[in-house]
Amino acid sequence: MKKQFKSESKRLLDLMINSIYTNKDIFLRELISNASDAIDKLYYRSLTDKKIKVDKNNLEIKIDINKEQRTLTITDNGCGMTQNELENNLGTIAKSGSLAFKENIDKKKDIDIIGQFGVGFYSAFMVSKKIEVISKSIDSDESFKWESTGTSGYSIEKSDYDAIGTKIILYIKENDDTSEYDDYLDEYYIKNLVKKYSDYIRYPIKMELTKHELVDKEKNEYKDKKEIEVVNTMIPLWKKKSSDVTEDEYNNFYIDKFNDYEKPLKVITSSVEGVATYKSLMFIPSHTPYDYYTKDYEKGLSLYASGVLIMDKCGDLLPDYFSFVKGVVDSEDLPLNISREILQKTNNLRLIAKSIESKISKELENMLKNEREKYEKFFKEFGTQLKYGVYNNYGMDKDKLKDLILFYSANNQKLITLSEYVKSMKENQDSIYYVSGESINKIDKLPQVEQVKEKEYDILYLTDYVDEFAITALQEYAGKKFINISKDDIDLATEEEKEKVKKDNLENSNLLKDMKEVLKDVSEVKFTSKLKNHPVCLSTKGDVSIEMQKVFAAMPNDIPIKAETVLEINENHPIAQKIKDLYKSDKDTFDKYAKILYSEARMIAGLSLDDPTEISNLICDVISK
Ligand code: ADP
Repeated sequence: MKKQFKSESKRLLDLMINSIYTNKDIFLRELISNASDAIDKLYYRSLTDKKIKVDKNNLEIKIDINKEQRTLTITDNGCGMTQNELENNLGTIAKSGSLAFKENIDKKKDIDIIGQFGVGFYSAFMVSKKIEVISKSIDSDESFKWESTGTSGYSIEKSDYDAIGTKIILYIKENDDTSEYDDYLDEYYIKNLVKKYSDYIRYPIKMELTKHELVDKEKNEYKDKKEIEVVNTMIPLWKKKSSDVTEDEYNNFYIDKFNDYEKPLKVITSSVEGVATYKSLMFIPSHTPYDYYTKDYEKGLSLYASGVLIMDKCGDLLPDYFSFVKGVVDSEDLPLNISREILQKTNNLRLIAKSIESKISKELENMLKNEREKYEKFFKEFGTQLKYGVYNNYGMDKDKLKDLILFYSANNQKLITLSEYVKSMKENQDSIYYVSGESINKIDKLPQVEQVKEKEYDILYLTDYVDEFAITALQEYAGKKFINISKDDIDLATEEEKEKVKKDNLENSNLLKDMKEVLKDVSEVKFTSKLKNHPVCLSTKGDVSIEMQKVFAAMPNDIPIKAETVLEINENHPIAQKIKDLYKSDKDTFDKYAKILYSEARMIAGLSLDDPTEISNLICDVISK
């Protein structure tokens, strides 16, 4: 019976079949990688299930070419697929990698992506007019054949294949104007593809190759002889000396194994001997995975014990703040047959994790020091996670991370480290100034910024929602306290100015008290000398800032934590005298002014107005007088 592909699969297939400029070669890497995974699965099952017997020495992948029938066949003796699995795995696209691909389809040019990104089994349709998948699962007594010519759908029927594993037969397309499909029937072309993309596969990839053999030296007579050859070196990439591996090989491995469509930003290799003994190959992606900041994202490194995969994503190997790192770890210190629960308690695993963490830290420090631009790109993608790490767990890890985080500097107009800030502090400056807001532009226009800039002190502009929480967790850096310049008690005034403001506030205490009463939700109203040209600002008292209040308000359970706000009025601005006059002569208009000034201050701070209509009417009242 003919069945239809799910609709998104159909779309992908269409793209696949009709893409002309794509690097079609990648299909082989995809099929070999699937075959290798299937063998891994079988082997792993045999470790935990005594009924399954596997001869370790016979595990292999075979590639056969038949020029007459135009077929390229890839056979593995892995776990195989049941009828259901054939249907579910090959009839639909549901895997994370494929989903990411789907998301990107609309963003970039379709063809571009297929070229860079392996999309698994489907890619074989780029070169095949028909595909047969014959498979017998380790969990079934029967074998089945799945068959499809592409978008028209697929069919599944019983088969008499009697070996456990999977045979994939590709019926290669005829040459056309755009592509030499015959290449895929050429032994040496295929052999080179295997070497290029799949050399590290741990199981032998066997091919029958035709060798030209000299049979008669005198007559110079040659004879073709067929010989089976293992084409790959089988040494996993992480076991090779990094000087023996090309950048391309690392990149291809990453793209293949971690289903990315872009090469990694950084490759981190390490071979450690000592308290912990292991080899690792890690990558920092060049962009945030689409699900990175969701709960679906699972951190972890693939864990191998003496070359055998024992856990696909071992979360215990990575602290949360480095959860963006992908890669593999291979150690001889770990037992093969081991459950997840026991593994978590293994001391060796903890030692490896510690060593890995310090390796990643060191690499990031070096990148920051020597490849600033790259580090900033990295920080744009994953900086939030590092800052989150600073304040998470009550700031337990802040000392490890404080030199890896960057903030926007008003003076430099770019990202800087805290140590760079401290180094460029003015002689008479004893604190690190910061202020938070929605965007650099908006912060730059905050009234409070002006006085600090006038003193030529640098200010860190915080625009990420975690920033202020991270700063609060840090409390200080190199003995310098962090000061939020939108707090009401920031102290930059001269003694003379301070004296004048103090007097002003005292003399007008009734006015200020009445104004506070009219406004209700401010905790104080006062005159200030810190605003140079601006009439008003809204500052805060205590630990909760306005930006933090916004973050709390946006949380799903709507935590009712409010900032204590203070309305500050510039005592040197004409408006100060105006309200003093009104207070004496026209209490009604004074109330209106109070509300308008407070609304102005709220707007500047990026807060909404409870009743914009009322304020708009008040403004009209006042200006039409
Ligand atoms: P991915 O490899 O990203 O999961 P594929 O489309 O390549 O996506 O394969 C889909 C699924 O089909 C695999 O996850 C695996 O379960 C199954 N599969 C593919 N090839 C084989 C094979 N040779 N042996 C057993 N299962 C396979």
